[in-house]
Amino acid sequence: MPAAAPLQLISETLLQEKQITLYLKREDLLHSAISGNKWRKLKYNLIEAKKQQKNTLLTFGGAYSNHIAAVAAAGQEYNFKTIGFIRGEPHEPLNPTLQLAQNCGMQLHYLDRTTYRQKQDPAFQENLEIQYPDAYFLPEGGTNLLAVKGCTEVIADIPIQFNYICCAAGTGGTLAGIIASLNGHAQVLGFPALKGGEFLTNDVAAFIKQYNGQEYHNWQLQTNYHFGGYAKVKPGLIAFMQAFKATHHISLEPVYTGKMLYGIYDLIQQDFFKPGSTIVAIHTGGLQGLAGFAQRLGIVF
Ligand SMILES: *Cc1c(COP(=O)(O)O)cnc(C)c1O
Repeated sequence: MPAAAPLQLISETLLQEKQITLYLKREDLLHSAISGNKWRKLKYNLIEAKKQQKNTLLTFGGAYSNHIAAVAAAGQEYNFKTIGFIRGEPHEPLNPTLQLAQNCGMQLHYLDRTTYRQKQDPAFQENLEIQYPDAYFLPEGGTNLLAVKGCTEVIADIPIQFNYICCAAGTGGTLAGIIASLNGHAQVLGFPALKGGEFLTNDVAAFIKQYNGQEYHNWQLQTNYHFGGYAKVKPGLIAFMQAFKATHHISLEPVYTGKMLYGIYDLIQQDFFKPGSTIVAIHTGGLQGLAGFAQRLGIVF
């Protein structure tokens, strides 16, 4: 069962100076293993998989994927077999993400990068469906319409008035759910984790359109905080995350939430937000990924 994801007030001199109220919505506390937005995205998919009497969850992801870790943990908790198709070559020993997935019982298969890119091709999918007739398929990153539906619940239980919601974006599914549930209320800022994140404008709009047929104008992307690209880091980002942890005792990870909060602080410094504004930033979780980063970069977060 998921726990609560409370709002936490962030106190800091900069915020006082600029008269900004900042809360973190601690979605990272929602579930110990199925973290943050990945729990939101899986919820209705798990219900649907049971309804279809599937006994297996099958999905795709990179070797450090939060989605892979979440699907593996969800399978263990809700009695599904799990199959993960992993991008790239196998490496021994397994990295912390894949070790966790395997410990949860996930069967790991590796696809070379060329084959991995074909994973959404109809012929490829059909082949897999024949091979795994009992499997419920989840796309890379977990975003489909049921995932968007789950993400509408991220902001359903926020008990305060706010002017801005801020959220990191990979596929944009979480952002789409948040925007749809706000239904035109407040402003939403999305922080793409990928370089060239402008492409998400169309993707997010399309998810929303499919979900509830609406088109909204109360949101925008902040595309300047990718730090060189997906899962790329720079010393300034690491220093920011370490300082944030030291001050607030809240861990961030460098792929999504670290970049988003760095961006929010930068925008506050630039007076992007009107004095008196209240911002709710979503901590989408993903902290399982820290161990892999620590190992690769020799950094303590
Ligand atoms: C996957 C993930 C995201 C991105 O979610 P999308 O719905 O793909 O945009 C954001 N934050 C964290 C921590 C994630 O693991």
